[in-house]
Amino acid sequence: MTRGSSTLSSALILLAAIMVNGCNEGASPITRTPKALFIIVDGIPADVVERASTPYLDAISGGRGYARAYVGGTPGQESESPTVSAVGYNSLLTGTWANKHNVWDNAVSDPDYNYWDIFRIAKAHDAALKTAIFSTWTDNRTKLLGDGLETAGGNKLDYHFDGFELDTKRFPHDPLRDYIRDIDELVAAEAARYIESNGPDLSWVYLEYTDDVGHGYGDGPEMSAAVELMDGQIGRIWNAVQNRQRTHDEDWMILITTDHGRDELTGQTHGGQTERERTIWIVTNSGNLNTHFDELPAIVDILPSIATHLQLEIPENIRDQLDGRSFID
Ligand SMILES: [Zn+2]
Repeated sequence: MTRGSSTLSSALILLAAIMVNGCNEGASPITRTPKALFIIVDGIPADVVERASTPYLDAISGGRGYARAYVGGTPGQESESPTVSAVGYNSLLTGTWANKHNVWDNAVSDPDYNYWDIFRIAKAHDAALKTAIFSTWTDNRTKLLGDGLETAGGNKLDYHFDGFELDTKRFPHDPLRDYIRDIDELVAAEAARYIESNGPDLSWVYLEYTDDVGHGYGDGPEMSAAVELMDGQIGRIWNAVQNRQRTHDEDWMILITTDHGRDELTGQTHGGQTERERTIWIVTNSGNLNTHFDELPAIVDILPSIATHLQLEIPENIRDQLDGRSFID
């Protein structure tokens, strides 16, 4: 990941905006349909992604759209949340910490669906909005989103591509978890294909392999290689988004993040409240970032940011519960 000079990039973006506006003077404003895609890549500490060679993440961020961020709530307060995968995903999905969404570990035994996820908010705003999930972990759809459950808002996903980790015939489970790498490849390829052909309004892509490599090998060349493999998968999806945008009047916001860092000593574990475990990162192509993006945003800021981009109206009682705020104007 290359961290560009944000001041210079901001100046260039401003200059470009002035030039574009200047060219369009007198023309009626073009309203493009907003589309949002968020991708969670599992368990990649900020220092690891910053060291790795990630040409596609660099291209998406354009220098300006990279920031360190945090998970884990406020240490010592009621919002303190374990730096564990499902806990982090659900903080992104609901814009709240674990003391509200009630997912404290990967068992996801009793999520509190009173804290609406972003798909439920989108469907309540406009049932015609199209939604999709592409995931290595089926629980993301069936448990965290509770798709189809009346208490979770009924059917919220128009398309899902997941469940392959349960198919041990096609993907025999090996101890080094290469089968997860293969499933990630499949998931990324399908996300690229579907997004380019169907252009869903809101999509979630989840890729897992980096966390498996972290648990297996810790910090080291294997982890860097896994991050670079992930970057290539993101690249295929990014190319699809760009192809889509070239042929449709659409304004795509893509947002990539991770769910937790890893321990300082080995990089093999996570779950605690050390700075490295709490530190994550966000990459986005958004040209509408505000100053909050530079002030160590949190994973709970992603929901309000997506809602801003998609211009979703959030019911007042749901909005009042949110722990985050938008880093997009
Ligand atoms: Zn994780």
